Amino acid sequence: MPVCSSCSATTQPEWKFCIYCGEPTSADAARPTPLAPRRTNPLAILAIVLAAIGGAPALIFGHVALRQIKQTGERGFVMAIIATVLGYAWLVVWAVLLISLLTNGR
Ligand SMILES: [Zn+2]
Repeated sequence: MPVCSSCSATTQPEWKFCIYCGEPTSADAARPTPLAPRRTNPLAILAIVLAAIGGAPALIFGHVALRQIKQTGERGFVMAIIATVLGYAWLVVWAVLLISLLTNGR
């Protein structure tokens, strides 16, 4: 009598799946291999952290991350987009701040 490799319950040969835990019991019932867990692009994380603390370089890292994600299929696409947009926003904020500082100094 076959035994489930996952929960050790006794299974029937005609079962394709263990009725107790859902583990496939025969080779032809093997479930499609789940996609390997995709890692998150590290530059996208760096970019979002920079964006969160007001760092304009987030837009540079965001752009590089987006390019890498398109090539590698890594996660973090939305993260990189947000970081890039925030990076541009911070660039404008810092530019306005700098200009107003310079003009007030006169
Ligand atoms: Zn089982």
